[in-house]
Amino acid sequence: MRQATLATVLTDSRCLPVASESKSASQTYLDKRVTKSQRGTKRTRSQRARERLQTKEHLVGLARELHEGELADKLDRCHSRLSVLTCGRHIARIIPNFTCEFRLCPDCGRRRSQKLQTKYLPLMKAFMLHNKVTPVHLVLTQTHRKESRKESVARIRNSFTKLTRRSFWKQYFKGGTWSLEFTKDKNGLHHTHLHIIGFRRKFFDIELLRDEWLAVTGDSHVLHLKPILDLAAGLQEVVKYVSKPLDIRRFGADDLKEFLGLKNMRMFGTFGEFRDFCKDFEPSDNDAAVGDLESFSRDLVEGCACPQCDEPLFDLRMSAKELPQFYEQAESSPPGKVGTSWN
Ligand SMILES: [Zn+2]
Ligand SMILES: [Zn+2]
Repeated sequence: MRQATLATVLTDSRCLPVASESKSASQTYLDKRVTKSQRGTKRTRSQRARERLQTKEHLVGLARELHEGELADKLDRCHSRLSVLTCGRHIARIIPNFTCEFRLCPDCGRRRSQKLQTKYLPLMKAFMLHNKVTPVHLVLTQTHRKESRKESVARIRNSFTKLTRRSFWKQYFKGGTWSLEFTKDKNGLHHTHLHIIGFRRKFFDIELLRDEWLAVTGDSHVLHLKPILDLAAGLQEVVKYVSKPLDIRRFGADDLKEFLGLKNMRMFGTFGEFRDFCKDFEPSDNDAAVGDLESFSRDLVEGCACPQCDEPLFDLRMSAKELPQFYEQAESSPPGKVGTSWN
């Protein structure tokens, strides 16, 4: 059997510049007020893996502070040992030893958002084809009040439900998806936003939509709208809030306590005709070909060719703490070059 090897010598532990995946141009339009807390600059995979580790350590600390020992242990164990299917340069698949499924766990959130993308991208493409609609990314905001997170979420969701019942909305939108984003400002006020992928039937004047939003909220007309040119990137942008609904590293024990009280709060959903379409949709061969990346990579095993470079894949065992460094080394190494053994 081929020995697990890495493409570069593991003596240099500096952070090497790694080309990050391309991101949608649509990210640039959002007003600073809307996503300042989460937008950040482009980060590499290794930086993101390192951030997930830090977030998790922070959460474990908070859980211990609240004497939530069981939660802390679960988080600690989750994704602590990994089986990584790799060619030495690309990662085809990561299988964790255990998943905690806690809603704020960054590793489980990432899996959840990948699953949502895998599920909804073919559905969205098929819906667009069947209905001749175009996707837009709509961000709805509301005024800040002294209220709990639960009240803030209920308020924006109620406003949105009212909006979707109005004739203006029905005239221009044929359904879509929503996801929630929360932030909290320095004064402790909750900012809750709804990120919508809306399937638009035809163009309309954005000022009219602002008036509609003001009519249902009573005091807010702040919203942002942008056409989605790349559906996969647009969907990724919206479901990222499912994996990262808020900046947990700025979270205190009280915030975690409040969050634990919000049992079964949904972070993502569908609405309108798209919702019915998702229930009834039976993919045809054509629709299935749209791409189910997850099921594709599920079939990959040791010895298969890497989907990105054709080099053979092998199985590498590592701890979660080693993953960021692995990303750094792997992504910065030239293709096909074999170096020292990882283990
Ligand atoms: Zn987890
Ligand atoms: Zn490869």
